[in-house]
Amino acid sequence: GTAARLVAENTAIIEDFPKPGITFRDLTPVFADGPSLRAVTDALVEPFAGRIDAVAGVEARGFLLAAASAYALDLGVLVIRKPGKLPREVISESYDLEYGSTSLEVQPSDFPPGTRILLLDDVLATGGTLAAASRLIERAGWVVAGVSVVLELEELDGRANLEGRDIRSLSVV
Ligand code: 5GP
Repeated sequence: GTAARLVAENTAIIEDFPKPGITFRDLTPVFADGPSLRAVTDALVEPFAGRIDAVAGVEARGFLLAAASAYALDLGVLVIRKPGKLPREVISESYDLEYGSTSLEVQPSDFPPGTRILLLDDVLATGGTLAAASRLIERAGWVVAGVSVVLELEELDGRANLEGRDIRSLSVV
């Protein structure tokens, strides 16, 4: 559709970033263009409209998609943050990076149990980040209604880390 075309047209491909051998897909031109941001936001949430109670974004690029989507649907945002940023009681979930590990945190008191959440991020790569975010949502007592990303990097098989989830991607490379 239109969103997929706009993503393809506006994605910048950067070789050897952040290190040699990595092909980085920079979506900032998609976000910089008003009609693209709007089309992408609408397409991310469209499959889930009417069956979610909140939208979650993973720090940091997921935040902008979550805020735009939540505004469009008249819903609120769950912020899934990097460690040490949230001031109240948190739960955290660790996950592996290529080198070492990190974690994500949420404040369970931010939404009531059973809240149906649509989880957003810009890129699905290995899926480690979105798998950790999904576990966190469930440990907090909420429901992962679905996972929506702008771009899926198919060769990294992130879906293998997200088995059983309803995953949508606007564009696949
Ligand atoms: P994961 O491997 O956990 O799926 O991805 C790790 C994080 O890096 C995610 O937040 C994902 O959005 C980001 N990421 C991985 N590869 C790329 C890329 O090529 N472009 C962009 N913009 N983000 C990427």
